Amino acid sequence: MARTAVVTGGLSGIGAATAARLREDGVKVLTLDIAPGADLPADVTDPASVRAAAESAGEVDILVNSAGIVGPNAPLWEIPLDGWERVFAVNVRGTFNTCQAFVPGMIARGWGRVVNMASMAGKDGNPHMSPYSASKAAVIALTKSLGKELATTGVIANAVAPAVIETPMNADTGPEALAHITGLIPMRRVGRPAEVAELIAWLCSDKVSFSTGAIYDISGGRATY
Ligand code: NAD
Repeated sequence: MARTAVVTGGLSGIGAATAARLREDGVKVLTLDIAPGADLPADVTDPASVRAAAESAGEVDILVNSAGIVGPNAPLWEIPLDGWERVFAVNVRGTFNTCQAFVPGMIARGWGRVVNMASMAGKDGNPHMSPYSASKAAVIALTKSLGKELATTGVIANAVAPAVIETPMNADTGPEALAHITGLIPMRRVGRPAEVAELIAWLCSDKVSFSTGAIYDISGGRATY
């Protein structure tokens, strides 16, 4: 029987590319997004909204957490508190909420795949992106904890850490910050959503069986650890 995946942020960028790539593998994909047109309209920051989406989704085998925002671009001392909190609400609380809603069903059925979206920003800390960088470090640690908790259940949880990928998200990244982070990529180009989707599709499959709580870099050579 075809597996079912929920892809948060599935209407844009890496999430949309992942939805398309998983469908190529015969997976039934439900997009969960705050933007109009999602299969599961929901706000990941709101646990009740996520729970309602999970109830209408039925049995879900694969969860890809791609919903995310960049937030304010400024030195830390100029970041408004509500900007800091909004980034953490979407990127961290959102990932927490969806894992809480979808993982127990996977454990009960003895098979599941969770892929969270971290970022090179969460390893290196990008200047002018302290809320975003800190939120992605939190996603890395959340994934490491969850992966270990699930290790004997048949459910595995991993994260991917891309460098800059050509998506609508970067329209919200300041030009100075964007030039800086693109300049750090030894391949001297930004990545494509389809390249990230390929890695995510593998992490959602039976082909990955001895990794959990791992962070997979996809950074054109930027990552050094
Ligand atoms: P994107 O802006 O193209 O898509 C993000 C999607 O998330 C949108 O469809 C948006 O509607 C949805 N979303 C935002 N807030 C939401 C909420 N509260 N509830 C539900 N849905 C919500 O972004 P992208 O570039 O595809 O990024 C996807 C993920 O990859 C993000 O977590 C991002 O941080 C991460 N990432 C992106 C890059 C990059 O350079 N594009 C690099 C590293 C990591």
